[in-house]
Parts: sequence; structure tokens; C-alpha cells
Amino acid sequence: MNVKALLFDLDDTLLDYSGGVDRSWTEACTSCCAEAPDGIDPATLVAAIAETRRWFWDDPVRHRRERVNMLGAWEHIVEFALERLGRPAPDLAAAIARDYAARRRAVMRLFPDSLACLMELRRRGIPLALVTNGDASQQRYKIERHDLARFFDAIVIEGEFGVGKPDEAVYRHALKTLGMTPGEALMVGDHLEWDVAAPQRLGLTGVWMDRGGLGLPHGSAVQPHRIIRSLDELRGVRELARS
Ligand SMILES: [Mg+2]
Repeated sequence: MNVKALLFDLDDTLLDYSGGVDRSWTEACTSCCAEAPDGIDPATLVAAIAETRRWFWDDPVRHRRERVNMLGAWEHIVEFALERLGRPAPDLAAAIARDYAARRRAVMRLFPDSLACLMELRRRGIPLALVTNGDASQQRYKIERHDLARFFDAIVIEGEFGVGKPDEAVYRHALKTLGMTPGEALMVGDHLEWDVAAPQRLGLTGVWMDRGGLGLPHGSAVQPHRIIRSLDELRGVRELARS
């Protein structure tokens, strides 16, 4: 591995995005159902939302369409869940989605190893790009709240750029902005297709972030160049030194 630049995924790679999900849904439903006039049981609704979320995000076409407007997506999920319970209530769905969004924003944190890694790579003058799918306003908010823009020479957000990972235009745009060829760059992220396989097909080095230490899924067609559990492992790669 002789790389000169790095491309980073954001959610669940630098930022603990999934950590507060279940608790935030529970708290949002508990809070909003207490104020609703028609006595919907929050625990029943939370369970219906969990089921609906799996179905909702499981369809790749719907995933691509909805993830660029997350507040809208969360509202749709709650609407479907309430309908599933035979209790349609669009106003309650909107209130829960807004409450949930606020809670998620409040609890989202960078992983403890993120800042040290970015600061070290920056100190060494290594060009860095942030390549993230999703909603422009949500992703910009995360970047601003955690003061991440200072580390990156390129920031590519699906909701701003028009297409997202794994479209090769995304990686090519980041590389072009950094002035790098695919063979000179490494991409690290938690999504095996978006952050590893697709960049590898273009000639980048693909590093899979496996924070949970679960290992590759059985029979995985994707073979990362490297699997890491912490960003500390990237700081130690001597070959990353600027050449
Ligand atoms: Mg991710």
C-alpha cells in the first residue's frame, strides 16, 4: 500500500451515527404520544416503527430516493407505522419525526479516535476528502457541528453533488479535487459496497471499518485490502507518509 491521499466516509466511520437510533425513537414516541389526544401506546408504536424501518430502507430504490431528505423519510416511516397499527395520524407522525430528528442531532458524537486520526493526517499534509451519501442539510449540519470541514480538501455530499456512492462519478470528483489518481488513494468506510468495493473497482485501496469486530459477512464477495476496527490503525500506516 503506497497511498498519498485518503477518502473518508462520514456516518458510522467518523461519526457515531447509528448509536442513538433506538433510544431516540423510543424517547420521541414516548414524548409525542403523551401529548397526543387519542392514546396511542408508545411501546407498540416503537415496535411498529422498527419493523417499518427495516422494510422502508430495504428497498434500494426507495433508499436512494428518501435518504436525501431524512426528515421526510422519518415522517413517512412513522406515517406507515401508524397506518400499520390502524391509527393513521399525519400530524402525530410529523411531530414524532421532528422530535426524533432533534434528539438524534443532540446525541450524535464523533468516535473517540476520529479527531486524533484527522489531526495527525492533516499534520502530515496528506490530502483528505469526505465522501458521504445523504441529505445535504443533515450532512452539512454534522460537518459544521463537529467542525470537520477544516480537515478536508474536498467534501462530496450526495444531496449537493446530485449522485451518491457507489456511482463512480463521486469518487472521481473527489480524486480530481485532490489532484490524485485512483492508485494513489485509499477509501475507508463501514459500507462494504459504497466504501470498499466500488472504490476498489476504480483502482483505489479499499479499507473496511469494522468497528463492531463482526468480520466479513459469510461468503462476502467483497474483499477489502484491509479491515480495521479503529481509525488509530490508519494513523500507524507508515506508507501514508507524503511522498
Ligand atoms: Mg457509513
